[in-house]
Amino acid sequence: MKHIQGTFATDKHGWAELLPEGKAAPSLTGNHRVPWVVVGAGVTGLGCARELARIHPDQEIILLEARLIGQGATGRSSGFAMDSSRFGGRFEPSEADTYRRVNRINQAGLTLLRTQITDHAIDCQWHENGFLHGAADQSAMKERDDYLNYLEFLEIAHTPLDQHEMSAHLGTSHYNLGIHVHAGALVQPAALVRGLASTLPSNVTLYEQSPVLNIDHGAPLTLSLPGGEVRTDKLILATNYEVTKLGFLHRYLTGVTLSGSFTRPLTDDEFASLGNLQQWGVLSLHNAGATVRLTSDRRICLRNTGEYHGGDLLSEKTLARRQSLHRAAFLQRFPQLAHIPFEYAWSGVEGKTRNNTNYFGKQREAVYFAGGYNGSGISRGTAFGTAIAGYASGVQSSLIEDCLASAPGVWTPPRPFLDVGAFLSVKIQFLGVGKDR
Ligand SMILES: Cc1cc2nc3c(=O)[nH]c(=O)nc-3n(C[C@H](O)[C@H](O)[C@H](O)COP(=O)(O)OP(=O)(O)OC[C@H]3O[C@@H](n4cnc5c(N)ncnc54)[C@H](O)[C@@H]3O)c2cc1C
Repeated sequence: MKHIQGTFATDKHGWAELLPEGKAAPSLTGNHRVPWVVVGAGVTGLGCARELARIHPDQEIILLEARLIGQGATGRSSGFAMDSSRFGGRFEPSEADTYRRVNRINQAGLTLLRTQITDHAIDCQWHENGFLHGAADQSAMKERDDYLNYLEFLEIAHTPLDQHEMSAHLGTSHYNLGIHVHAGALVQPAALVRGLASTLPSNVTLYEQSPVLNIDHGAPLTLSLPGGEVRTDKLILATNYEVTKLGFLHRYLTGVTLSGSFTRPLTDDEFASLGNLQQWGVLSLHNAGATVRLTSDRRICLRNTGEYHGGDLLSEKTLARRQSLHRAAFLQRFPQLAHIPFEYAWSGVEGKTRNNTNYFGKQREAVYFAGGYNGSGISRGTAFGTAIAGYASGVQSSLIEDCLASAPGVWTPPRPFLDVGAFLSVKIQFLGVGKDR
């Protein structure tokens, strides 16, 4: 029996705070016996449960979520659903097959999300006009040529932009250059997961605030929760970096904590001081630079810190300190909006692997895991979740093949070396970020 370590801390911050209060699904009580259990209701678990229900329309699937829907990484993300990834560093033509494989996975996820949102009329501010990639400082500017080489080689539709064009789009002269990558969607991430959770097929039963505390690996498997027990034939873990708490991959996956802030919605005059796009998302050409959005409800949202914090959310006190970094970056970009206060700050934890790979497959008899997407998991997690449902059901598909081809993970040292190593590697990532923070 594996004994869980740590808790499932949460707070009320994040995009979920911007939504009207919802009615939570019940917590699990009593004893249950089902053929399938999925643990974790972010995009991976939601995609997985939906696909299991499609493949096995006559079987019952239980979906267990430790927190409230929208409080995991997905609901706390910046809401960029990627069509193609940016791999960073030097463009290597010899890696083109890997880039194409990962992008096929992203594209499969993006298509699945689009279809689910359309079919179920999910109101989540889904907006497909790709993203801008911006650079303000030297080190990010140097990244542009490699990224352009990659986009051209892989024939990914894009438009290079100069400072004037970036400014015309965004209403800030902060960025010296940029690139518009045409495909990709922006989304309100908490509204997305809430919408996906509330439209699950009828043979999926969701329990919120129902953490799995122990797994007994008999046949059937027995899961212990605070309010009861579930016995199941097959178990799919969609628990992101917290899979380590259930005794898996604890030398391979860590959590890095990011934070950002939202302004209040802009007035008509404030909005008119910006550029010609009604809503937009900017990713930095520096690996650790700020992610900035103008949301469809006219808030500016800026995320620009990342740190190793033991896989936990930031406390109120630390979050307040980080907000001064959000504020400084906001003022650099939008001096004309200096009078606008931030209304919310939030933090979230992304699953990180040492070699930037993702996990997909069987962990042990009847137990499967998909996750750990290194900050790019909305489209990819949807695809991985869908594919792991098929894989665990014995289905074959090109998407499953693509997911299975993920590079093996690289071992990370135990604590306290892990803490020091992870702390340093996040620090190194921020080197040279300069005005792109
Ligand atoms: C601040 C931030 C910004 C990001 N921005 C982007 C972005 O713009 N675009 C992008 O593509 N990606 C982004 N990411 C990464 C992306 O959010 C993740 O890769 C993706 O959402 C992971 O999805 P998931 O379903 O695998 O995990 P999660 O969304 O973390 O879901 C896992 C769920 O499992 C639950 N859980 C864990 N353990 C248990 C247990 N024992 N019992 C029951 N439930 C359990 C958790 O509560 C959680 O809800 C960002 C991440 C962060 C933190």
